[in-house]
Amino acid sequence: MHLKRLELSGFKSFAKKSVLDFNSRITSIVGPNGSGKSNIAEAFRFVLGEQSLKSMRGKKGEDMIFNGSSSMGRLNRASVKVVFDNIGKMLNVDFDEVALERVVHRDGINEYFVNGTQVRLKDIVELLAGAHIGATGHHIISQGEADKILNSNIRERREMLEDALGLKIYEYKKKESEAKLEKTEENVKSVESLRRELSPRLKFLEKQVEKVEKARQMKIELGQLYREYFYDEDLYIADQKKLLADAKKPPAEELKMLEKKLREQKKILEESGKGGSRGNSLMHLEERIKKARDERESLNRNLGRIEGEIDAIKRNMERSARMAGANGVSTVPLTDLEGIYERMRELFDEGEGSENPSVTKSVLRRVREIIVGFITAAKNKKDIPIEQSADISRLGDEKKKAEERILVLKAEEGSAEEEYLKIKDDIDKEKAGSVEAEKNMLRIMARQREIVSDLSAIRANEDRLAVEEEDFKRELYEAGMLAGRAALDYKNSGGDTSQDQCPSSKEQRQKQHDRMKQIERIKIRLEESGTGGEDIIKEFTEAKERDVFLAKELQDLAASAETLGGLIADLETKLDVEFKEGVAKINEKFQEFFSIMFGGGEASLMVVKEQRRKKKGLLEELENDELGGENFEEESAEGIEINVSLPRKKIKGLVMLSGGERALASIALLFAMSQVNPPPFIILDETDAALDEANSKKYGDMIESLAKVSQLILITHNRETMSRAGMLYGVTMGAEGVSKLLSVSFDEAVEVAK
Ligand code: ATP
Repeated sequence: MHLKRLELSGFKSFAKKSVLDFNSRITSIVGPNGSGKSNIAEAFRFVLGEQSLKSMRGKKGEDMIFNGSSSMGRLNRASVKVVFDNIGKMLNVDFDEVALERVVHRDGINEYFVNGTQVRLKDIVELLAGAHIGATGHHIISQGEADKILNSNIRERREMLEDALGLKIYEYKKKESEAKLEKTEENVKSVESLRRELSPRLKFLEKQVEKVEKARQMKIELGQLYREYFYDEDLYIADQKKLLADAKKPPAEELKMLEKKLREQKKILEESGKGGSRGNSLMHLEERIKKARDERESLNRNLGRIEGEIDAIKRNMERSARMAGANGVSTVPLTDLEGIYERMRELFDEGEGSENPSVTKSVLRRVREIIVGFITAAKNKKDIPIEQSADISRLGDEKKKAEERILVLKAEEGSAEEEYLKIKDDIDKEKAGSVEAEKNMLRIMARQREIVSDLSAIRANEDRLAVEEEDFKRELYEAGMLAGRAALDYKNSGGDTSQDQCPSSKEQRQKQHDRMKQIERIKIRLEESGTGGEDIIKEFTEAKERDVFLAKELQDLAASAETLGGLIADLETKLDVEFKEGVAKINEKFQEFFSIMFGGGEASLMVVKEQRRKKKGLLEELENDELGGENFEEESAEGIEINVSLPRKKIKGLVMLSGGERALASIALLFAMSQVNPPPFIILDETDAALDEANSKKYGDMIESLAKVSQLILITHNRETMSRAGMLYGVTMGAEGVSKLLSVSFDEAVEVAK
């Protein structure tokens, strides 16, 4: 027993909570017309998730809710709960009892619950599909719908059969997979479109990045060139510095030496200039000699005079001695007379030159005075020999003194002369030395000029080197800016000047020159390539990542589309195989039940393909219009055809059957379907209405056999049917318009049904 209970509350005419327990394999619901029996069948549809309001005789959701009556107000919600025994896990949930509940509110909102937990309709539908209680409701036959399956088209029939065969779950899965596939395809399209949108930008960025990469390569190349260049240039500058320093040393030293020499020569010259003092002493000596000589000469003359005087005195004395006393003659020296004459000549000159007689007189007087004076003096000369010997002695002294002095002077003259000659000799020698010094100085100065000129050439080279060094530094700075710090690391990884190569060699300089040319070329190219590399790379990386991500997404989508496609194909195969197998089985039973019902005849189901014309999409339609083509396309759909042929009658096909015959045929098919894959319960709402007594019996027999596989709920007015039920519910409706439920006995039921 699967179906345990049905609870209605506010559903249609069941305003109050009504509970139906299904403790029997067959339960009959009986009651007068309009009491609400069919509402119970609809309550089943409702709780099992029926979405067609029409099949529940409603137009909108609120038609399911008790709408009030003269004695009772309308309600705001209707709920129906069905309880299944799930020990056998007929429903795929881990509960031994499963209660499904559906509630509808006046605003049309529906709620679904499984064991009190709210779920989605989809969950309910899937849960039930696994238990062959599908949404097509093939197991709930409403009033007047006994021949529904016969009236349906081949496609609907196929669906009903799928439902009955429990294949709906595959169908759902297939639909779900198809929906997923469709979504996946949509995603593929949108991802593809995103990629397409991204593509031109990516291409552009790729080109930019190529440029940036080229610039990067150029920078690397530039860095390498720079390092080589700097390494060699550094060596070159150092070499040049050393060369110049070496070149400067000898001339500088020589210059120093020459200066020293020059100083020496100057000194020599200065020294010779000091010859002046010696000249002075020479002069001094000359003076000394002259003076001594003059004095000597004067002394000699004096000596001569003295000797003369002595001689004269001696002669005088001798004469005086000879004349003495005899003639009283006095001797007057001539010099005295010359002296008197001298004095008087002046007076004569004065007298002769003047006309004035007083002057003449004065002259005469004075002449007289002079003569008188002379005579007086001469008379006074007495004792001459005494005086004369005194004179001789005095003169002798004088002579002696003069002679001594002359000797001294001679000595002095000799030494002065000696000194003079010596000095003179020195001076002569010095003179010769200073001429040599002058010559030397001239030579030294000439050499100095030569050296200075050499040095200034070196200095010019130093200036040139300084400029080169400046260039080197500037280039270093530029290299750092253009090629990054790595370019400056030339000391560790750089040039190719080998040990035995001179960095200043012509060959090396040419190499450096070529390198610089190459550097300049790259610099220009770098400048042309522009900047902003980092941003471009970042953007490119992002765009690329996005593209890779999208590509991966596409791959994933393609993979999942493939999986889904495979799944769908599998499901289709499964559906196809199981459907065909199921149909074959149903066919067997159908034939069996049909011959029971009709006492023979033939009935079968046939899987057919139907070509349907389907209107094409608008776009295709437009295209076709232009081409003058068809606006419909053929679609092949698989369906079920029913073939019947009644015994003893020549009629074939469903259309020829009477109402009762149709009912019987569809009941046979329904039962056949239920036998092959029995649903847990079947509800038949007055399916027996059209049957006569004999057929009612056959119907009753079939019901009993069917009850072995499915629980049956039979809404009926048929006594025969009632008689087969193990449990009977009576439904009544009083004047208040509310259905009431009561458990009744068979007899009561017969009574109620009336
Ligand atoms: P029959 O034997 O003639 O087939 P029945 O017993 O099956 O009759 P139902 O068709 O189930 O009767 O019941 C119909 C009754 O339910 C009507 O009286 C109708 O007014 C009532 N009914 C239907 N919907 C509602 C509703 N929303 N509120 C109140 N009553 C309703």
